[in-house]
Amino acid sequence: MNPDPIAWRDEESAVWFAGLVVGALLIRRCDDCGHHGRPDAVACTACESRTLRWVEAVGTARVVATVATPEQNGGHTIQALVELTEGPWLFVPIIGTYSAPAPGTPLTLTILRPPEGEPIPAFTVAA
Ligand SMILES: [Zn+2]
Repeated sequence: MNPDPIAWRDEESAVWFAGLVVGALLIRRCDDCGHHGRPDAVACTACESRTLRWVEAVGTARVVATVATPEQNGGHTIQALVELTEGPWLFVPIIGTYSAPAPGTPLTLTILRPPEGEPIPAFTVAA
C-alpha cells in the first residue's frame, strides 16, 4: 500500500494540522462572497478578498486526475488531484485500491495518522 508521507506543521499550517488531529479537513471560505479556497489560500480566487476563515470540508470529493506509481508487489501507489465538494482541488493519496480510479469517481475523506509527523488527508473510493 501507500507509504506514509511525513508532514510537519509550521506557523502557517498549524490550524490546518490541528483540524486534522481532530478529524476535520479545513479549507478557507471567503467572508465577502462565500467562495471556498484551498487551505493555503491567502486571498479569495473569486473576489480577491483577504477576509478568509477556516471552515470544515464535508469530506467528499471526485477524482480529477491520478498518478499511479508501480510497487514491487504488482500494485500501485495512487496519488490523485481531487476536487472537493466545496470546489477546491487538493493533491492527496488514494488508499484502499491498487488501481487508479477513473476521473469523476466519488471519494470519501479518511485521515492517515502516520507514526511520525502530522496526520494527513487521504481519500478512499466511496462505497
Ligand atoms: Zn471572495
